[in-house]
Amino acid sequence: MYPAAPLGADAHAARPSSAAPVPPVAARVASVGASPVREILALTERPEVISFAGGLPAPELFDVAGLSAAYERVLAESPRRALQYSTTEGDPALRAAVAGRLTGRGLATGPDDLLVTTGSQQGLTLLTTALIEPGDVVLVEDPCYLAALQTFGFAGARVVPVATDDDGIVPAALEEAVLRERPTLLYLVPTFQNPTGRTLPPDRRGAVAELAARHGFWIVEDDPYGELRFEGAPEPWIASLPAAADRTVLLGSFSKIMAPGLRLGYVRAPQGLRRSCVIAKQAADLHTSTIDQAAAARYLHDSDLDAHIGVIRDAYRERRDAMLAGLPAALPPGSTWNRPSGGMFVWASLPGGYDATELLGVAIGHEVAYVPGAPFYCGEPDRGALRLSFTTHSPGEIGEGLVRLGRALAGRTP
Ligand code: PMP
Repeated sequence: MYPAAPLGADAHAARPSSAAPVPPVAARVASVGASPVREILALTERPEVISFAGGLPAPELFDVAGLSAAYERVLAESPRRALQYSTTEGDPALRAAVAGRLTGRGLATGPDDLLVTTGSQQGLTLLTTALIEPGDVVLVEDPCYLAALQTFGFAGARVVPVATDDDGIVPAALEEAVLRERPTLLYLVPTFQNPTGRTLPPDRRGAVAELAARHGFWIVEDDPYGELRFEGAPEPWIASLPAAADRTVLLGSFSKIMAPGLRLGYVRAPQGLRRSCVIAKQAADLHTSTIDQAAAARYLHDSDLDAHIGVIRDAYRERRDAMLAGLPAALPPGSTWNRPSGGMFVWASLPGGYDATELLGVAIGHEVAYVPGAPFYCGEPDRGALRLSFTTHSPGEIGEGLVRLGRALAGRTP
């Protein structure tokens, strides 16, 4: 499974001739090789490239004034507390504010149901540490969020893909995989998924919960994008469905609605599992930054986060619409793409024979970029798939980027 290449000490670090070599880095780290597209994507950082590749929130929409004021107030009013070590579970005021928001959206939650994490990515790591033995099966949507695959891989999980369609994971395929694989955990991004932007409809959420209840596995419901809804009514969280409420963990994040640099997220988990996550977190980082938590709590008290989310939604809706307007002329005949009703991504597929990974270099030659879809799969990839993020450019730039993409793909045959 792991390459047997020489690992460890940097090739360029000179070693005195008398010194014995140090042991190599662990196989679990060595096995996570560089992504084949990472080097190409480094080229998208050039300012002249219009990049739909990143998964970044729009920085001009960060509420810099509101966040600055929150930090200033925290440092003025309670500097000794804000700069001190604090509890692993997290700032009580922040947990109370998050609990209030979740309860307000239909998921009854108390502050003690929550553990504040250093981004929701850490929540994933803690849950994996708490639940997964090497060799345990983790079921994932195919395609799946890449850093989740890495996390499960580090834990030595056997990651098994489950088929999806335009509405997300397919319940019949999930049932078949559950019966065959006896999974410990199912990882899902049910709303505005990364990379596909897809949303699981309510009936499928019910089917997932029923399967977890009947066959006994954990559901990890990762929801960093759910509040970025442009239209339509929200679907219920799987965590709110009684069938699997005792075995569903909800991961939340402030990255897409406040700012990712805060590195603030949370885990809402049943009591026993939450306690195990607290222990895992003690070993990981003792606790999430005291001052960042205090500032976020202050922000939630003093500012109107929902109004701010409204601003983000309006901007992203316009940008999504600009992308949808430009795609028909940009992609070759026979291509397909979806119309996500929120989030940050459109998922497109070039017709049979086109390879989006190979074509990325051509696109960058025309100063436009996307992320090829293939690396997001752990089953058989759709080689024509690509992820297009619409968040970080104005509608005009998006239109221009798609004109460039059209030029790049014009005349290319499969
Ligand atoms: N889950 C998903 C599906 C994501 O797309 C991301 C980040 N893009 C994360 C988790 C991690 O987010 P954070 O750690 O910033 O909360």
